[in-house]
Amino acid sequence: MMAEVTRKQRLSILGATGSIGLSTLDVVSRHPDRFEVVALTAHAKVTELGRLCLIHRPRYAVLENAENARTLAAELRSAGLATEVLAGPQALSQIAALSDVDSVMAAIVGAAGLAPTLAAVRAGKRVLLANKEALVMAGALFMAEVRRAGAKLLPVDSEHNAVFQSLPADYSGSMEDKGVRRILLTASGGPFRNTPLDKLQSVTPEQACAHPNWVMGRKISVDSATMMNKGLEVIEAHWLFNAPADKIEVVIHPQSIIHSLVEYWDGSVLAQLGNPDMRTPIAHALAYPERIETGVAPLDLFAIGQLSFERPDQRRFPCLPLAYRALLAAGSAPTLLNAANEVAVAAFLAGRLPFLKIADVIAAVLDRIPVSDLPDLDAVMSVDAEARVTAATYVGAWT
Ligand code: NAD
Ligand code: MG
Repeated sequence: MMAEVTRKQRLSILGATGSIGLSTLDVVSRHPDRFEVVALTAHAKVTELGRLCLIHRPRYAVLENAENARTLAAELRSAGLATEVLAGPQALSQIAALSDVDSVMAAIVGAAGLAPTLAAVRAGKRVLLANKEALVMAGALFMAEVRRAGAKLLPVDSEHNAVFQSLPADYSGSMEDKGVRRILLTASGGPFRNTPLDKLQSVTPEQACAHPNWVMGRKISVDSATMMNKGLEVIEAHWLFNAPADKIEVVIHPQSIIHSLVEYWDGSVLAQLGNPDMRTPIAHALAYPERIETGVAPLDLFAIGQLSFERPDQRRFPCLPLAYRALLAAGSAPTLLNAANEVAVAAFLAGRLPFLKIADVIAAVLDRIPVSDLPDLDAVMSVDAEARVTAATYVGAWT
């Protein structure tokens, strides 16, 4: 069937200067007939956001602080662009909910992405979700809002995108109804999969960020090295697919060719394969249910030769059992886990915390703060803030 494009899909891209943001713009650039960029946002990279505005000519651009916004506005005006430059977190939520935006790419890293992503959900947008931390922090509330507002949530995280593709098209949240036995999330094992355990205590941020298969932002790169990334993804899968913790298994697959699998009662296992390039899941979410060209090289099975699998070693990757513990504890536990992890990873990247202490900080926060209910966004944000203060005191104790 020929794809019939009636009107361009209008996009807001949150976190446009990041790894996912740039890959999104790469796909978008290949299809000027399909997509129109309405808004681009960045934290502090003024020059980079300016460059992207000159190419994509959005109606809005957003930066974190007002002074940077004024600088960018002046630059764009002198280049003859009519882009309106806004500043601050409120502006992020505003451009995520604009009435003439169809889809929002949620690609801010960490908790800062929650409010604007939720604003997009509440406005009933098509939400292309890369920002897994938002779902981990506020899963129950987030999914309730998706249902209430009738938003369409499309997973961009490669594993969840693979699961989404391997589930029946009419899957609506009941594994039972569709004969699904298990979800298998693959993980590369990161840069330290084979590093001797006694060497892990002295690894540097540069080593942790040198991922064997994927080029990503620094926070998610460290999460991949600790495997907290997979832990967050287990929680993300729980919310996206309504899957209980004991039906989600993590499999180390060092080649990162199989992006995840779904196992059915009859013994069938369906998987999605491809080269490790985020433009594939991004394009899948952008064009869903259609398929578009991405520039990703075709998968060459002969060149790959072999695919291998390993069980994750819980001693090497203590963050993974911590994430399962938080998921089973429910309530605010995943919020605590995520906040403590963000603080610990930032401290590690700043050279203030040894790599192996990341898991210790998270475990200490989970031990210390009792689990509570999260009835609304204020409750989420106050648990997040409390966990950050507690995590910072543990980080401080080690420096
Ligand atoms: P990145 O660090 O490369 O980019 C992050 C983006 O968020 C940047 O545009 C930055 O300006 C913006 N940002 C950061 N802090 C902000 C703040 N406080 N307020 C407003 N904007 C802020 O990160 P990334 O690798 O692109 O990852 C983005 C998200 O996608 C993360 O949640 C990550 O877990 C998820 N993800 C990434 C990949 C990948 O391959 N990079 C894969 C799967 C999921
Ligand atoms: Mg992933």
